[in-house]
This record gives sequence, C-alpha cells and structure tokens, in this order.
Amino acid sequence: MGTFLSRKEEQALIDAIGKAEDRTSGEIRVHIETKCDSDPYQRAIELFYELKMNDTKDRNGVLIYVATEDHKMSIIGDQGINQMVPEGFWNETLQLMRMHFSAGQFSAGLSLAVEHAGEKLRTYFPYQRDDTDELSNDISFGH
Ligand code: CA
Ligand code: CA
Repeated sequence: MGTFLSRKEEQALIDAIGKAEDRTSGEIRVHIETKCDSDPYQRAIELFYELKMNDTKDRNGVLIYVATEDHKMSIIGDQGINQMVPEGFWNETLQLMRMHFSAGQFSAGLSLAVEHAGEKLRTYFPYQRDDTDELSNDISFGH
C-alpha cells in the first residue's frame, strides 16, 4: 500500500471532524486499518464497542471504517442518530466515499463522509452549550 493519507491529509481530516463537531453534540470517528478478514459492517460494529463509541450521552456517535488493502469500508451510527437519518443514508454516504476512493481520492472521500455525517448530526443533535468532546477526533489506526 502506498501512503493512504499523508500527514497533512490526516491533520486535515482531524480538523474536518473538529469542525463538524463544533456544530453538533454528535461524535464522529475514523478508523483506518489495512486488512479486514470479515464483513466490514460486522468489523465496524466490533470497533464501535472497542472504541467505546456506544458510550455517548445521546447515543449519537458515527464511525467511518476503512480497510485500505482489502478495499472494504463501512459507516455506522449509534441508535440515537440511526433513528433519525433516512433509510439508506449511511449507504449513500458510503457510495460517495467509495467513488472517491476508486479515483484514488482518499482524503477527499473521507472528508466528504465526515461532512455528510456532520450535516445530519447537526440537524438532529445541534450543538449544546454544555457539550463536551466525548470521543477523540484523532484517527484511530489498526493494523
Ligand atoms: Ca460532543
Ligand atoms: Ca470528537
């Protein structure tokens, strides 16, 4: 694998997450690893719990998961946000991300997914004055 994201792109993605979270109480995380032996949706659920993303006050965490070498990816939301978004919303976001990835635009694809998730989160979970950053904005890296 070449470099999936440069340092600069990583920082830009972290900034995009921060910017999205400035306008919502929701929490967005990105997990990147090289391989995924199982179904990416199942793997994302596993990671969701591993990263304690189910532990938000309003159950409004969103995980964007990518296995770079296996070209597998998934986007999942906790029950709070899942109840609100239209059916198929995560899949549409995933398709958009995949399109960018196919063109080699990894950074753009991920940023777009973060923006999309952020838009929906701020619609249903607007920023609260007492909001805290419940989950780190840093990218989580697997193996
Ligand atoms: Ca928050
Ligand atoms: Ca956060």
